[in-house]
Amino acid sequence: MRFERFPKVDVSILPPNPAPPDYWQERAACFGVDSDIFFPISEEEAGPALTFCDSCRIKEECLAWALKNGERYGVWGGLTEQQRRRLQRQVA
Ligand code: SF4
Repeated sequence: MRFERFPKVDVSILPPNPAPPDYWQERAACFGVDSDIFFPISEEEAGPALTFCDSCRIKEECLAWALKNGERYGVWGGLTEQQRRRLQRQVA
């Protein structure tokens, strides 16, 4: 399982106006997967969710949506809760 404290993210390639999940969730690598996987108890247990995100075709849309809407919980767009908070502090 892969877990990086802070993977490199190029925020300049994220869509500025991401569509809500209803528009893209059927194309997601996690579509139909038990959502509990995406809400791990600890950061270190996020590996299985991040593996899905690695192969997801709409990862940038998902991350952009989570950042824009301040999603506080769970794995979105290949980043954990802590990783998204750190990214938001960096780009603020
Ligand atoms: S990036 Fe990850 S959480 Fe987002 S839709 Fe894809 S698999 Fe699901």
